Amino acid sequence: MIEKEAMYKITYGLFMLTSTDGEKQNGCIVNTVSMITEEPKRIVVFVNKANYTEQLMRKTKVFNVSILTENTPFDVFKQFGFQSGKDVDKFQGKNYPKAENGLYYLEDCSNAVLSAKVVDAYDYGTHTLFVAEVTEAKTISAEKSVTYEYYQSHIKPKPQKAEKPRNKRKWVCKICGYEYEGEELPSDFICPWCKHPAEDFEEIV
Ligand code: FE
Repeated sequence: MIEKEAMYKITYGLFMLTSTDGEKQNGCIVNTVSMITEEPKRIVVFVNKANYTEQLMRKTKVFNVSILTENTPFDVFKQFGFQSGKDVDKFQGKNYPKAENGLYYLEDCSNAVLSAKVVDAYDYGTHTLFVAEVTEAKTISAEKSVTYEYYQSHIKPKPQKAEKPRNKRKWVCKICGYEYEGEELPSDFICPWCKHPAEDFEEIV
């Protein structure tokens, strides 16, 4: 038997991933980045194919990883994680710094930025596993890297129980905090923000 709760015990960080189609840049939030070899410095990152950034990484094979800190505001997760780069330009309206590879990174809420070039991409159904060689790595601050657990308990807003209308039921996505309101949560419902399925929602009672 596979207990879902046991799978939730795995530790993760949170990262902002940037790539480009050659002209336009896009970014998304991911929770898995690991270094696999020291010499040469290689990293792996898993990206959900529902993310527009995944397509860009397969196309141009370059990306940046901004390692997010505990001081990252929820707005940053909303801006890069809860909307699609297919619909909006996530970098519009603000000047972001660029790494040597020309891709943007986050400065205000990251403690380091890694630039990398994809050497392999493996298709695992819903996700692509990218293996990449680090081309630049720069420390930005001494702040602590944020863990997924810290995000869940300190950054993600708590559901507002008082707002629940009397004749409607409400479910909240345990992953990102998205709230669904209605008579019944459809079993094939996919969270519009984080793309997790209905099983990851719990009813607010
Ligand atoms: Fe969600």
